Amino acid sequence: MDVKFVLDFDGVLFNSAYEAYSVAEKCTKGREGFRQDIEYEEFLEFRKVVTDAWQYNRLYSVTRYTQPAAVPMIKPIDEDWDFAKAFFAAREEIMADPEWPKVMPVYDFFLRLKPLLVENRDKFAILSTRNVKSIREALAFHDADVVPVFGQEDIRMHGSKLAVAQSQGWCEKGRYIVVYLDDMNSHLEPFEGQVHLPLHADWGYDDNTPGSLTANQVMTIFTSLLALTKEKHDEKA
Ligand SMILES: [Mg+2]
Repeated sequence: MDVKFVLDFDGVLFNSAYEAYSVAEKCTKGREGFRQDIEYEEFLEFRKVVTDAWQYNRLYSVTRYTQPAAVPMIKPIDEDWDFAKAFFAAREEIMADPEWPKVMPVYDFFLRLKPLLVENRDKFAILSTRNVKSIREALAFHDADVVPVFGQEDIRMHGSKLAVAQSQGWCEKGRYIVVYLDDMNSHLEPFEGQVHLPLHADWGYDDNTPGSLTANQVMTIFTSLLALTKEKHDEKA
């Protein structure tokens, strides 16, 4: 069986929270109807429940503010989609500056992983709630735009991260050994029992659990699996 490493982006490869905050601030600054007092800490707390950019409207809107715990239960209305459009337009503007990936530092994990990505590009994929273009540009900035990227657009089309994974055949029994790495426990839960190794990255934005892994532990698992599946290939050849 071939191995497939499916990686989350924000909070696993890139420390992008501040970039998201800059974008949200840019698209609400000075606009009537939007809170002007959101500090980074409040944004970070709210961001834990965000799976789609429209949900930031429920943080910034003066009249539609929603407690983070209630956000996963609400369905978007037109006003939320307008917010998402403004959010992505603000990000486009920020991204027009070629230096923009500098507001999005990488984790050490990414630097250690990069040679493996480049060498085994067919064994990796990125699965994120972020829009594809910003992921590819951030990777390109680090000479690592070499793996398939599934983003916000794919999740909207299929409905969830797990549904995107299923659409790619990653969850078919006996086809791949799948490692799924994410920093959000709520994103990992649907993958329990669906892939061989759902792993929680302890360096991201969510609280740790007893099963959370350090970057060192994850690297050991990745390199071991690559070596094992390579040996199997060599045996076959
Ligand atoms: Mg994440």
